[in-house]
Amino acid sequence: MTQPAVVNGDLIMDGETLDVLDPSTGNLLDRTIRGTFEHIDAAVDAARAATEGWRHTPYARRSQILRRVAELLRRDREQLALLESRDTGKPLTQARADADVASRYFEFYANVMEAYFGHSPPANDDIIAYTRHVPFGVTGHIIPWNYPLQIGCRTLAPAIAVGNCAVVKPAENAPLSVIKIAQLALEAGVPPGVINVVPGLGSEAGAALAGHKGIDHLSFTGSVSVGASVAKAAADNVVPVALELGGKSPNIVFPDADLEQALPVIVKSMIQNAGQTCSAGSRLLVQEDARDAVISGLAQLLADLSIGAGPDDPDLGPLISAKQRDHVTHMVARAVDAGFTQVVGPGNVTVPDKGFFFPPTLLDDVDPAAEIACQEAFGPVVAATTFSTVDDAISLANGTDYGLIAAVWTKNLDTAHLLAEEVHAGQVYLNTYGAGGGVEHAFGGVKKSGYGREKGVEALDAFSQTKSVVLKITR
Ligand code: NAD
Repeated sequence: MTQPAVVNGDLIMDGETLDVLDPSTGNLLDRTIRGTFEHIDAAVDAARAATEGWRHTPYARRSQILRRVAELLRRDREQLALLESRDTGKPLTQARADADVASRYFEFYANVMEAYFGHSPPANDDIIAYTRHVPFGVTGHIIPWNYPLQIGCRTLAPAIAVGNCAVVKPAENAPLSVIKIAQLALEAGVPPGVINVVPGLGSEAGAALAGHKGIDHLSFTGSVSVGASVAKAAADNVVPVALELGGKSPNIVFPDADLEQALPVIVKSMIQNAGQTCSAGSRLLVQEDARDAVISGLAQLLADLSIGAGPDDPDLGPLISAKQRDHVTHMVARAVDAGFTQVVGPGNVTVPDKGFFFPPTLLDDVDPAAEIACQEAFGPVVAATTFSTVDDAISLANGTDYGLIAAVWTKNLDTAHLLAEEVHAGQVYLNTYGAGGGVEHAFGGVKKSGYGREKGVEALDAFSQTKSVVLKITR
């Protein structure tokens, strides 16, 4: 069966289709409709028509409906996790965690929206002023393939909580769970037109949504180049846009760190979703006195990882596509050609023949200016560089165009807080690493990692506009 667009509560099946492949085998998994400008146009119209009814729905009722979406996501957790694992190739345990987080987004925003107050700023005696949070109207959401279930809910839940109606364009490589979310939302009582989903290609449905004149706000998660083009399209319509882009996030390890605690977390930060995580720990900055212990400990952990099809629940699954695997392969080959030491990687680790697998890869002695240390590989690859002083660590951490997250591993509070202050990143973790989690914590980048904040209470600010009302009292 072809997976539909969901527009105004209807399942739309007409027109051409797109194949969706199973990354664990390379075989056909499913098909979706290939969304066109007309589908996007119909979805924007449906969202527009739903806006008045939805924004005037009492807060308590909207909150109840969001909570019901959370319940249904929890009810269908196993089914959604399996679907996500098949569609993205990610290990089942990680897909289950994504399903839990998806549900938590709706639950969290169902709760916080009811305590999302305006202000009454101080003013002269004859003035009473207050602010209200007003929805934008129709919000456009462009979602990547790496965490469709999580990122779909991350942007949808706060957007509709504050009264917007949404049009979502999932990624062509992994659209299935986002289409399911729209269907579950209808079952939960979200009125038709409040959440519309149109699958399709980025250059067609995606570009149509980004440039549509009926959109009032855009939320984009994906690559820097496409993000920039979406922002240009939004600028032409004078529409605000939130960009959640890539990263080259460092784990920064000092000799006093508890390595028994740190190393498994560093490995997880690097291989989660096969490294196809915007906030992956793809750089390792290690103080020279800790280098031998860190590199040999990581090599051992990486060599012990199980590798296989996502639904079989290994430690490491495949990459999303042959194109992505080729990209990572070439990038690692260039790093090895440049003379960096491959401690673990292609040649020393066996991966399944079928599907789009790439081995866990640890490169040491990497020049911090090298491509592999500065650009996203978006695979299970970490580039290690040593440093000597705290100042060196800060300057290396800030040495790329990105600034999404960073982790500092030390028992020294001064060092930890100094780096938390000085490292340019939207999130800094001290003795832990938070890729993917943290519904409650504001998330987003600096520099080329993007702008705007999602997650946390801050997402309600992002998806609403403040209106000031000022009354003059005549005595
Ligand atoms: P991508 O930019 O190719 O695609 C993202 C989405 O944009 C997809 O839905 C795609 O169809 C759509 N798209 C493509 N071309 C478009 C166009 N011209 N106009 C409008 N939409 C278009 O990125 P990707 O390959 O899907 O995802 C990987 C990238 O996303 C990585 O760089 C990663 O770091 C980043 N990412 C960031 C976050 C974050 O929260 N910061 C999360 C996940 C992924």
